[in-house]
Amino acid sequence: MQRFENAREAALALRPDDPVYCFRPTILKKDCQNFMGMFPGKTAYAVKTNGERMVLQTLSEAGVTAFDVASPAEIADVRAVAPKAEMLYMHPVKAQSHIRLALEDYGIRTIVVDHEDEIVKLVRVVRALDIDPSTITAFVRIQTKGSAAYELSKKFGAGPASAVELADRLGRSGFKVGLCFHVGSQIEDPDTYRRALASADWVRNRMKVPLAALDVGGGFPAEYGHDPNRKQPKMPSLEDIMARLRADIEEWGFADTPLVAEPGRVIVARAFSLIVRVLLRKGRRLYINDGIWASLSDSWTGKITLPARFIPDPAIRNRSGDKKNIVPFRVCGATCDSVDILSRPFWLPETVDTGDWIEIGHIGAYSLSLRTRFNGFYPNTFVELTAPFDEGGMPEGFASLETMAD
Ligand SMILES: *Cc1c(COP(=O)(O)O)cnc(C)c1O
Repeated sequence: MQRFENAREAALALRPDDPVYCFRPTILKKDCQNFMGMFPGKTAYAVKTNGERMVLQTLSEAGVTAFDVASPAEIADVRAVAPKAEMLYMHPVKAQSHIRLALEDYGIRTIVVDHEDEIVKLVRVVRALDIDPSTITAFVRIQTKGSAAYELSKKFGAGPASAVELADRLGRSGFKVGLCFHVGSQIEDPDTYRRALASADWVRNRMKVPLAALDVGGGFPAEYGHDPNRKQPKMPSLEDIMARLRADIEEWGFADTPLVAEPGRVIVARAFSLIVRVLLRKGRRLYINDGIWASLSDSWTGKITLPARFIPDPAIRNRSGDKKNIVPFRVCGATCDSVDILSRPFWLPETVDTGDWIEIGHIGAYSLSLRTRFNGFYPNTFVELTAPFDEGGMPEGFASLETMAD
């Protein structure tokens, strides 16, 4: 991988027509170690957030020894990169053959269920393989209500009463029983974990088996950009959220329970930025070489504000407008699909023109992992950068939360 100090250097050296992912391994290590230093338990990185091997490798070097996996492919990737790492198979709905593969071929001993039929599958596999069930920790996923940019409890999780039944059933079959939840990604209300812990407490008090572990899932918010036209949302810092979580864990009596977290976004969001090129400026529209079917699907939902930095092409001599005037542009994606338009405008200097580049910051989470080959556009070029995104001056632009009239 080629190394540069920052995206401007990379763009001017490579003059890329295809999108370029800028990987910052030092930021990844720092954000990861920061989280691990604050969380009073095991950190299992959620592979679905960004499963690139360079990410798994760097996290392993940073001291991550556990990974939250959801599919045979994720399991194989983690094993290839970090052969000694522990894996937690935390997808609540699994094919029986995949459960077997996880237990038999990979020796996985941590798994999740949220329905009795998943227990039936698990018990079948454990019996067929003659595994002692007490070597397995089976987590029951409980439903939570919260406020997050992306809700996850609509799809998974057992109601509290049914969680008690599932836990007892697992206990009777000889498994160690844990409880877990996932409050949704990029939480917007710091009391979310507290409410989830209260539900976990309710279930624990009614279970007949001892609680072997508590997994608080992911959801920890990453810091994104800031739209100066809007009041800064009053979200507390990660330090404050963690301090509150530690206090709540204490208060609800989980301090002596082995704890697990499955952070994704908060660890990897800031480790990547993306250089895109303006293929055409048409009035206040910018047609770029990436879009919602490639790296920008998460931002397309409009839930997060991405910082953007203008990288003017020095070959463009005659520009019109004032580079200090920051104006909104509608951003159209690379494919021939008319839904491939970002739902929020990017605010950039009015001098932007065909041929310029834009560095979009903090796209490490749920961007590369969601890219498709639609229309033949599959960004897959990487460079390594040494300077953090926030160095090199304020980003001139950002993807605003305001909608834009056409
Ligand atoms: C997606 C997911 C995570 C990661 O969530 P973040 O909000 O990115 O931290 C963790 N655990 C499970 C089970 C998930 O599905």
